[in-house]
Amino acid sequence: TLQIKNVTKRYTGKNEVLAVDNVSLEIGENEFISIVGPSGCGKSTLLRMVAGLESITDGEIIFNGKKVEGTNAERGMVFQQYTLMPWRTVLQNITFGLEVKNIPKEERLTIARKYIQMIGLEDFENSYPYELSGGMQQRVAIARTLANDPQIVLMDEPFGALDAQTRSMLQNHLLKIWETDKKTILFITHSVDEAIYLSDKVVIMSARPGKIKEIVDINIERPRSRISA
Ligand code: ATP
Ligand code: MG
Repeated sequence: TLQIKNVTKRYTGKNEVLAVDNVSLEIGENEFISIVGPSGCGKSTLLRMVAGLESITDGEIIFNGKKVEGTNAERGMVFQQYTLMPWRTVLQNITFGLEVKNIPKEERLTIARKYIQMIGLEDFENSYPYELSGGMQQRVAIARTLANDPQIVLMDEPFGALDAQTRSMLQNHLLKIWETDKKTILFITHSVDEAIYLSDKVVIMSARPGKIKEIVDINIERPRSRISA
């Protein structure tokens, strides 16, 4: 369970920005929650605080009973902009986190190849990021995060840069992983359609300052109906 309790983020500096204003939200285990809202409303800031990449000005975030402080492999993030290691191949980018966890080589390769197949880049496992299109790099970034098997997956507009067909393919793969691997997913998107298609609940944030306007329960039959579709 993830508990975001009265969390505020104020960026200080030349211009002070109240990016997130007293937001509270609870996400149960195996829930799929989307956040939508206009550009600049604080979605990425909120997600980065959950990831432990951004300090919290006020309030607290609790994950599985423990206060979030810094990053941890249990909370995996897919960034809005792709962030691969340019000196490593596709395969090496995906196995990196598994090396850190001391998973044996054979197992690392098996896990990495499962996700490479999922993103449809079997022919590119030995390519370097600069040899791939932006959308392909983003698919590798998604695979890298999922391969690390985090309990909660934090996704910041992961499919924004993809064409409709690839997006739809990855949406369905993500739903499958969400169900079979029992993940908790917090997903940011600009697309209300995408949010409704994927999630149990849609959190709507309002323009300024970053507040939750409404939380909508999506009561369509799920999840198998969507996954087998
Ligand atoms: P988008 O949909 O465009 O990605 P967002 O909802 O993710 O927008 P954030 O990136 O969280 O929005 O930004 C929220 C507010 O905080 C904006 O006003 C932005 O200018 C400000 N902001 C974000 N990052 C920083 C930073 N590092 N320093 C100062 N202000 C920042
Ligand atoms: Mg953002």
